[in-house]
Amino acid sequence: LFLSFEGIDGSGKSTQARLLAEHLRGAGREVVLTREPGGSPGAEEIRRLVLEGDPDRWSAETELLLFTAARRDHLERVIGPALARGATVICDRFADSTRMYQGLSRADLRASVDTLHDLMIGIEPDRTFLIDMDPAEGLARALSRQGTEERFESFGADLQEKMRAGFLALAREFPDRITVIDGAHAPDQVAADIRARL
Ligand code: C5P
Repeated sequence: LFLSFEGIDGSGKSTQARLLAEHLRGAGREVVLTREPGGSPGAEEIRRLVLEGDPDRWSAETELLLFTAARRDHLERVIGPALARGATVICDRFADSTRMYQGLSRADLRASVDTLHDLMIGIEPDRTFLIDMDPAEGLARALSRQGTEERFESFGADLQEKMRAGFLALAREFPDRITVIDGAHAPDQVAADIRARL
């Protein structure tokens, strides 16, 4: 079983991914909890190349290629082997983040995102939970967190609102796969909602 979590920064998706992993492990399943960008040693190196340092270092096209390369490595080394042995994989972000972030920064890149996905990745999660969240609250949470990467300190409320709309548009595009979860409640309540939907 392959599950992914998506949402804007501060939506609580990482917390929810962890809570679901703990729940499924408690029920005796092998769970591989992982994240993107990153999730394998090579992909984590690529994550650093893209997310740290000068945000203008890479063009949008190069960034898309780097994120796709990272996903390919993650798939080969971590996700693929785990699924093959019957483990449940829970991924904090997957291809929807690329569709949303790279598609949002350059709408004309969306066709390339899809072509690269078909060529080099080829799989989708069985179920994706989109944690929907008011951007003002999400931004406040993201900024209050230790270790927040430079990159999203420059994100204003307007951009967060666009990202929220972008994720909700993806949920409409993939209604059979993406389940929208209301992230405005306490973490335990959101977690219970996700378990019920699963
Ligand atoms: O969710 P996480 O904190 O790991 O994401 C780090 C940042 O990476 C996000 O704030 C987002 O801006 C960026 N990102 C991106 N393109 C992706 C995935 C993530 O720009 N495909």
